[in-house]
Amino acid sequence: MTDAARPTAPETRFATRQVQAAYTPGTAQNTAVPPLYQSAAYEFASLAEARDLFALRKVGNIYSRNASPTQQLLEERVALLEGGVSAVAVASGQAAVAVTILALAGRGGHVVAADRLYGGTVDLLQDTLDDFGISVTFVDQDDPDAWRAATHERTRLFFAESVANPVAQVLDVRAVADVAHAAGVPLVIDSTVTTPYLQRPGEHGADFVVHSATKYLSGHGGSLGGVAVDLGTFDFGADPGRWPQFTAQADRFGPQSLWERFGQGYAFATLVKAKYVHDLGPSLSPFNAHQILQGIETLDLRVARQSASALRIARALAAHPGVAAVHHPGLADNPWHDLAARYLPNGTPAVFSIDLASRGDEDEDQERVERFVDGLRIVRLVANIGDARSLVAHPASMTHSHLTAAQRAAAGIGATTIRLSIGIEDPDDLLADLERSLAAL
Ligand SMILES: *Cc1c(COP(=O)(O)O)cnc(C)c1O
Repeated sequence: MTDAARPTAPETRFATRQVQAAYTPGTAQNTAVPPLYQSAAYEFASLAEARDLFALRKVGNIYSRNASPTQQLLEERVALLEGGVSAVAVASGQAAVAVTILALAGRGGHVVAADRLYGGTVDLLQDTLDDFGISVTFVDQDDPDAWRAATHERTRLFFAESVANPVAQVLDVRAVADVAHAAGVPLVIDSTVTTPYLQRPGEHGADFVVHSATKYLSGHGGSLGGVAVDLGTFDFGADPGRWPQFTAQADRFGPQSLWERFGQGYAFATLVKAKYVHDLGPSLSPFNAHQILQGIETLDLRVARQSASALRIARALAAHPGVAAVHHPGLADNPWHDLAARYLPNGTPAVFSIDLASRGDEDEDQERVERFVDGLRIVRLVANIGDARSLVAHPASMTHSHLTAAQRAAAGIGATTIRLSIGIEDPDDLLADLERSLAAL
């Protein structure tokens, strides 16, 4: 059916959007599934058209480092699922975090960040961006006063995760957003662990959302990717002197500022694409964009199953004598249980951790952790989360091995802490596998 013959799409709900949003068959082939445009570059109709495209006077495809049609469909779909205005899809979650911070912080900017962040984000902020003059202060994410106290005149953004891992702390998004807005800066939420199915941070005051699409958005563990979404809520024009990257004219973008030309909800994505992705090159391959789109079609089905299975497994393990603690916000005695009830009404994430019971002897603990992890037959030892497969990791040996024991303790990670990312397998099989390995200790 051509666009002209198709009735206007009605307003749709989440599960319909994740399958259909932003794609209407309308190519010569009318493919039902969005096509994969695997092309590095695009042909211009004329030199005049090429000139308009290069000058950003006309929107269209030039070269896939900047944008490609399959990538754009992914961007529109994720923006719609988040309730946002525009999005940028890039090669990895790490790239999405990096270009977002670069675009918002600007030269000499300062970031106030939660103390419980993905390790790659910590490395980026305290090492690589610091080398280039963007500074960071890490704060206790549960203490709004700490966020306020860390803010100064060069602060340009707040950064936190909706639910951190491995210990699954739930952020009070509204409280942190209020402090950010009082300071005149946006709140960026890394919502990788929650996905737009479990939480839409924009409904709680966040201004930008980033995802590692490698995780739940894909869900198959087959492709790296990342997305940054502009929720369209932050007004860079309210204090133009603070945001020259948006409000001042720059020769490469023509006679008007990005703010004048593209406005609220679009200036950020334009700056990220036309400057940071263009200059630094972390572009998403069309093939990966296509794989991520395929994954998103089943997002709510997978996450609902994973969330329910994880809660069931967490409850069973909490009653197991071989387990000293279960860090899962769905459990009534968890410190973040009330925040989970408020911010995660569709369910708690499927990433959580357990502490194996310790006998107080370091070597023996290490040996028990090894026997437990190596004894698993269904749950796989993999440094990833959000896969269809259930995965286990030992943070002290793997993701958090470069931290000191004191830093790990501050992050709630002990020698016997084990992270689980529950997949879509039968939960009885998963529980039996975990219990079998615990019994062998
Ligand atoms: C994995 C992850 C990232 C980085 O994403 P990649 O796709 O691996 O580059 C960022 N934030 C969180 C919370 C993650 O889990």
